[in-house]
Amino acid sequence: MSESSSTNESQKIWLDGEIIDKADAKISVFDHGLLYGDGIFEGIRMYSGRVFRLEEHISRLFSSAKSILLDLPWTEQEVIQATVDTIKANNLVDGYVRLVITRGVGGLGLNPYLCEKPSMFIIAANIQLYSDEAYEKGLELITCATRRPTPASLSPQVKSLNYLNNIMAKIECIQAGVMEGIMLNEQGYVAECTGDNVFIVNKGIVYTPPVSDGSLDGITRDVIFDLCKAEGIELREKTMTRHDIFTCDEAFLTGTAAEVIPFTKLDQRQIGDGTPGTLSKQLITAFRKLANSEGTPCV
Ligand code: PMP
Repeated sequence: MSESSSTNESQKIWLDGEIIDKADAKISVFDHGLLYGDGIFEGIRMYSGRVFRLEEHISRLFSSAKSILLDLPWTEQEVIQATVDTIKANNLVDGYVRLVITRGVGGLGLNPYLCEKPSMFIIAANIQLYSDEAYEKGLELITCATRRPTPASLSPQVKSLNYLNNIMAKIECIQAGVMEGIMLNEQGYVAECTGDNVFIVNKGIVYTPPVSDGSLDGITRDVIFDLCKAEGIELREKTMTRHDIFTCDEAFLTGTAAEVIPFTKLDQRQIGDGTPGTLSKQLITAFRKLANSEGTPCV
């Protein structure tokens, strides 16, 4: 991810109720977010001075917190306000906001009940995950050997600070010279990508795996459901194998950072005619129009 603000020394960070300089934004080495990945996060986008699907992201954050028994001392409205304040402090019009909540400072043992209180920090930055060329030509993907863990061990709906599973898969992608990869569940069915949801198109119908196959219930995935309905495109949830992707007409990924991006090759198999498909392009256009026209104002 290219992050122009990561080198921006005047960047302001929201940390536990205060907006401070990036250089002063520090957390303890005893924070369990760091010691154990015990915490949660959200990635949110803003377009043209409005935060896209802000309430949905904050609601998912609170669901993640509830699931891991993390009692938050803030209301959803306060977190929304903190997000808007951080964006304003950084004078951002288009960008990406990373909201992180850690279990807080505790002992060296696992026990989360010994942690004093959760910490929250918010970073607002400029990002461009993929090049314009990638959106025009489509990505090449591999299937990762690393599997998504079963929901019986940890629900994929918890956006936890422990992304090692996804990082192991991302390493495979980078070693193969590609940017994203398909992750399968324990049964070998398609779950999602390392940081995106997967869609295919066949004979004019859009398909995506049900989240019960091991994916995050992506907010951009949800937007595609809305857009298909609005554009009169049929969409079905379907358990799928790699074969379904190899033989589909079109394919694309969705994610807050990636937005909607076509992929045109998987494991050396060309998808469709090897260029982004008509319905994919229609949905990309519709997504951009929507993202630039709705959202919570913050300038
Ligand atoms: N799957 C995973 C594992 C992710 O990290 C993300 C990014 N949040 C997604 C899917 C896409 O979800 P969203 O559209 O909500 O960003």
